Amino acid sequence: MKQVYRYQMEPDKVTNCEKCRRPIFFVKTVKGKLIPLDYPPNAKGNVTVSNENGVNVAHVYKNNAAIKDQWPIYLCHFASCPAAAHFRKKK
Ligand SMILES: [Zn+2]
Repeated sequence: MKQVYRYQMEPDKVTNCEKCRRPIFFVKTVKGKLIPLDYPPNAKGNVTVSNENGVNVAHVYKNNAAIKDQWPIYLCHFASCPAAAHFRKKK
């Protein structure tokens, strides 16, 4: 049976971005892609993290209006990193 819990942030899982040194943590999305999220939560973000059967799963929304407001909202570090070009290869 699938049990879904709100993810409790573990501060010891926080690391620093290799490029800008800001605090981030990595979580896999529902599709299995590992993404960096800013720490602490940011209401301008569009990502929530839940814990499903013991595994943390990031849910990326198109806009944050769709998010249940009692859940912490995280901003994807791709959106805030000054060195974001490092993550996305130029075409
Ligand atoms: Zn960065």
